[in-house]
Amino acid sequence: MTRTGASADPAPAAGIGPGRTIIEVSGLVKRHGALEVLKGLDLTVARGEVATIIGPSGSGKSTFLRCLNGLEAFQAGAVVVDGLRVEAGDPAAVRNRTLRQVCRRAGMVFQSFNLFAHMTVLENVIEAPRCVLGLAREPAVERARRLLERVGMGDRLDALPRHLSGGQQQRVAIARALAMEPPVMLFDEPTSALDPKMTGEVLAVMSDLAGDGLTMVVVTHAMHFARRVSTTVHVFGDGRVVESGPPGRIFDDPRHEATRTLLSQVL
Ligand code: ADP
Ligand code: MG
Repeated sequence: MTRTGASADPAPAAGIGPGRTIIEVSGLVKRHGALEVLKGLDLTVARGEVATIIGPSGSGKSTFLRCLNGLEAFQAGAVVVDGLRVEAGDPAAVRNRTLRQVCRRAGMVFQSFNLFAHMTVLENVIEAPRCVLGLAREPAVERARRLLERVGMGDRLDALPRHLSGGQQQRVAIARALAMEPPVMLFDEPTSALDPKMTGEVLAVMSDLAGDGLTMVVVTHAMHFARRVSTTVHVFGDGRVVESGPPGRIFDDPRHEATRTLLSQVL
């Protein structure tokens, strides 16, 4: 299911299907020394989808997101994000250049917020559009104000991160990632460091973005969010996707043993 009109899609790049696929990962292998973290993983995300990833700790969820947005090189397979393809066998020079481009196609939100501590809320959000996109200050500020308003932080433009709650910092981090206008947003356990009230604030912002048709890949333990907001749930286990499906099917009729075990632990 996609929420964006197909007519809004740019022309599809060769090899990524009929224009609906925005992320296509095939045969992804990632090793850390002798440890094979991802063992030939395949996963596809359509434009406008909210794909949630659930799986036990250590099953490679963060590693997968890091490979997706170019923070991590890999040993085999290919990753395509918004028409840009990175292959394990690419020469380092090509790969590094392409990884930087991939990075701009996928905004990332981390568990630990990672705001620039010495910068105000507004400065945090205008930094990348100014420095990476070369936007002039005025349009960068205008964009930042609009996004901070959208995440409910429009009245804290001059605050420093240390004066904000975790939930507020995470909402600024979301605005900061959105400021690069990436076609895809990746969230790595964005509420794991937050208490239930702050978790609710952040999930509300994410639901709002999903409702607007933003393509999102979300690693989360927030099962009520996964059930309510996602179009597809992917269950990770032992370096692979053990099953994928709409949330109702995965939660009400889990078919793989690993999914049943996982759900019995978290529900
Ligand atoms: P998850 O996010 O699902 O909890 P991760 O992707 O963080 O899992 O980690 C998967 C496995 O890879 C774990 O066993 C972890 O210890 C290992 N790992 C992750 N990053 C590194 C690294 N930089 N060096 C060595 N091992 C790593
Ligand atoms: Mg992780």
